[in-house]
Amino acid sequence: MDPIRIAIVGIGKIARDQHIPAINGNAAFSLAATVSPHNKGPEGIPHFDTLDDLIAHGPAVDAVALCTPPQVRYDLAALALAKGMHVFLEKPPGATLAEVAALESRAEKVGVTLFASWHSRFAAGVSPARAWLAERTVSSASIVWREDVRVWHPGQAWIWEPGGLGVFDPGINALSIVTHILPRPIFLQSATLEIPANRAAPIAADIQFRDTAGAPIHMDLDWRQTGPQSWDIIVETDAGTLKLSQGGAVLALPSGTQRNEDLEYPGLYARFANLIRGGRSDADIAPLRLVADAFLRGNRQMVDAFHD
Ligand code: NAP
Repeated sequence: MDPIRIAIVGIGKIARDQHIPAINGNAAFSLAATVSPHNKGPEGIPHFDTLDDLIAHGPAVDAVALCTPPQVRYDLAALALAKGMHVFLEKPPGATLAEVAALESRAEKVGVTLFASWHSRFAAGVSPARAWLAERTVSSASIVWREDVRVWHPGQAWIWEPGGLGVFDPGINALSIVTHILPRPIFLQSATLEIPANRAAPIAADIQFRDTAGAPIHMDLDWRQTGPQSWDIIVETDAGTLKLSQGGAVLALPSGTQRNEDLEYPGLYARFANLIRGGRSDADIAPLRLVADAFLRGNRQMVDAFHD
């Protein structure tokens, strides 16, 4: 079978750290081109400043991976779909829920694949955590996602702008895991969003969810953490405690602790290839819907201005 010719759009941190190596490591794909207004891609791969330029002057491509900030993703995705390309959306899949729904129906009409990717769902501990919880009754859960924004997002102005999600940019990764592993749907009951006086997006959030059986799920997000960072999910059940730590890489169960190799982006590209070969899409917006509900129903508190 011929490899799927793919272009990466948006050569920033995640494209360089993860997408280029994952595509190069998967024989189902060949990296045909890169697109980015300022940054260049790997030596020897045709590069274009805009997706329009690639379409007008570049080699033929079957698919695009959109690694830009979420605020500009819709127009790029709509253009790619209009040209019959399969589309891989980095997380979050868009800046609004309705635009993702519009892309999903457009992909269906055109007959191509739309993949709203959630890389944390491919962390090593997540799939076994989901299997273990499927047999258990959940009594409560706690999510603690505390990291240092200066370390992980230096110079990323978009992340603080409307649609950039602020502390929910990492927090949505936790929600992508929780919505995947918990056996029942969850929904928001209350939220407090702390917003720096000089920014448009929250730097911290305290959120209370519950599942449909009433089990409370608490979420603590904070971007002001220095020292050790925390990316932990703890679930209490009738058969003991499950703990996923290090963003889902390490799973502790009453029977012991497992840590397997990190295969998040290889896993995403294997899934994208399967979806394309099978003529299917996967555009689960459950994590983004919970974030939207936090903005819809949360209290906003102004806090001290944030300086890089
Ligand atoms: P980033 O370093 O700011 O890179 C984004 C790149 O997008 C920029 O370098 C910019 O390229 C490019 N871009 C902006 N507008 C564009 C347009 N209209 N057309 C083409 N390219 C455009 O951000 P990032 O950290 O890679 O994050 C990008 C996405 O990946 C976000 O949604 C984020 O949540 C997700 N993500 C990030 C990480 C991470 O560890 N950083 C992990 C997982 C997922 P130029 O510089 O060339 O203008």
